[in-house]
Amino acid sequence: VPDSADAVLEGLDPEQRAVATALHGPVCVLAGAGTGKTRAITHRIAYGVRAGILQPTTVLAVTFTNRAAGEMRGRLRQLGATGVQARTFHAAALRQLQYFWPKAVGGALPRIVDRKVQVVAEAAASCGIRLDRGELRDVTAEIEWAKVTQTVPADYAPAAAKAGREAPRDPAEVARVYDVYEELKRDRGLIDFEDVLLLTVGILQDRPDIAREVRAQYQHFVVDEYQDVSPLQQRLLELWLGDRENICVVGDASQTIYSFTGATPDYLLDFRTRHPGATVVKLVRDYRSTPQVVRLANGLLTQATGRAADHRLELVSQRPSGPEPRWAEYPDEPSEAEGAARAIRELIDAGVPASEIAVLFRTNAQSETYEQALADAGVPYQLRGAERFFERQEVRRAVHQLRAAARFGGNDALLGDAEDLPGQVRAVLSGQGWSPAPPAGSGAAREKWESLAALVHLAEGFAAARPQAVLAELVAELDERAAAQHAPTVQGVTLASLHSAKGLEWDAVFLVGVAEGMMPITYARTDEQVEEERRLLYVGVTRARERLHLSWALSRTPGGRPNRRPSRFLDGLRPGSGSAAAARGGPGGAGGVEYGTAGTGGADGSWAAARAERAAPRRTRRTVARCKVCGRTLTDAGEMKLMRCEDCPSEMDEGV
Ligand code: ATP
Ligand code: MG
Repeated sequence: VPDSADAVLEGLDPEQRAVATALHGPVCVLAGAGTGKTRAITHRIAYGVRAGILQPTTVLAVTFTNRAAGEMRGRLRQLGATGVQARTFHAAALRQLQYFWPKAVGGALPRIVDRKVQVVAEAAASCGIRLDRGELRDVTAEIEWAKVTQTVPADYAPAAAKAGREAPRDPAEVARVYDVYEELKRDRGLIDFEDVLLLTVGILQDRPDIAREVRAQYQHFVVDEYQDVSPLQQRLLELWLGDRENICVVGDASQTIYSFTGATPDYLLDFRTRHPGATVVKLVRDYRSTPQVVRLANGLLTQATGRAADHRLELVSQRPSGPEPRWAEYPDEPSEAEGAARAIRELIDAGVPASEIAVLFRTNAQSETYEQALADAGVPYQLRGAERFFERQEVRRAVHQLRAAARFGGNDALLGDAEDLPGQVRAVLSGQGWSPAPPAGSGAAREKWESLAALVHLAEGFAAARPQAVLAELVAELDERAAAQHAPTVQGVTLASLHSAKGLEWDAVFLVGVAEGMMPITYARTDEQVEEERRLLYVGVTRARERLHLSWALSRTPGGRPNRRPSRFLDGLRPGSGSAAAARGGPGGAGGVEYGTAGTGGADGSWAAARAERAAPRRTRRTVARCKVCGRTLTDAGEMKLMRCEDCPSEMDEGV
């Protein structure tokens, strides 16, 4: 713990220090990834508290994920500042809503809907509209978008047209499903995630007395990842703020990755217009990543277009040189996953802690292949995105059973003869076939066991902190965590979607599935959507401190048609992709792209051997072929992929 307020400022550069000491009035920090935005605001709060300028309980720090909030609280504690609230918009709103609901509405706050998509499906069915899985996902996303932009069903169609939304169905149909969905929720006494913010906004708007109470409590606001604030969150922020100006926002327009849900970097970029007296600070020194990683990140930004790109800031690495990024191509996804698992195993064996390694992918559906590969390689892992934890079937069932047990308090059939809380939880879980000893092996059964063990562990922590607590209170805690997506943590390699990885960092990052169709994802059609995909890749690249692996597979399944190519975002950056930069070695350097094989590594199981085996037959099979795109004659089939030469961007499906 620093011994004084001034000591808190040590370890900040002059610009960060300017942020930390500007404790009054509006402050806006515009800066790229890894430049210490989160660090600057954390130290700002700590400095203010330690200097006696900020009263800790009057500070509300809003972060993007519960994990980020937890990290900020931990960091504040280390800096000697306790009592500050660091929460997500959602968690902060939920707390206020729970507190004010009885007074504003009466009764207890309705429960948060468990399976929103299912309710949307029911709503569609009752409108006589059949939706396939993809449409269901898209309609659900449209409903979420409408809610965060405060658009009621009747206004959905014109609003969606104006915003250039590509409705998955006739907008009138989406509006009908939206309407019925709201009705179903109301009838069942349920609310969804967006309702938590909407209801809080509603209460603060309609009840000046409550708004006054909230404003008396919170007087200083700090918002991280402000580039991804939604109109609804912005509204909430304005209501919290009232006519005061003590707000500090930090963000990076180049990391806007939630605009599909209605978030927009406009609030960040227009901050100065809304707050003319604002202190604006720019940070460019990148403290997170090596020059090699930063070079690739800057390269990605150079190609970006659009409003966010107009405000890009070139990063300058402050770290010593590290390894070049590694690039690897595989015939199919399972081999790609196996290759990643093998490389991860090597890192762990070389002493890199598993918790310092992450595998980042575009869609959650990709996670299963990687879970399998890591499990096969005996590598412990955890899934990021806590909604997953509380959505797991065994966890849902367990929470359901615990709720039943709590309701019939003291029911021996369910609780056995346990008094203490963890014992009761264990008793309920044994009814579900769980036992304290883990099952052998590492497959799905082990995963299931781990989830339930995490619940027991959580109960133990809860009981230790609140010895008098009863089961019903634990269940309430679980509900709150589920609502706030706050999962208990497991140590291991992190498997996460790019979206849930924002703000975080690891020593080694495996960016997988960097192929056309995944990044950008097939359904990104408009230029704006494609740009958002590029930013997503930028977010992924900038999560790495030191080691970065990028890989892609030419086909989805083993033996499948090789119909994929590396992401267009890597063109000119990837070795062998044709541009002058790449010819010079590019960010990939002399190492070039490694070619993974199907099945296990090379003869001795190593990467180098796998690569050599793969490369050898390529070189010997000299064929004359003509690129069907540019007509160039090739003397080596190795130069040819997907019947086009490596310099041609578009895909072809037949050769000459
Ligand atoms: P992102 O845009 O990804 O959220 P950020 O701008 O919030 O990144 P931080 O996470 O605050 O960046 O910082 C990145 C890393 O650099 C962290 O490990 C942080 O501790 C370190 N760092 C930041 N500023 C400094 C500094 N002045 N001296 C040393 N290390 C620093
Ligand atoms: Mg940050």
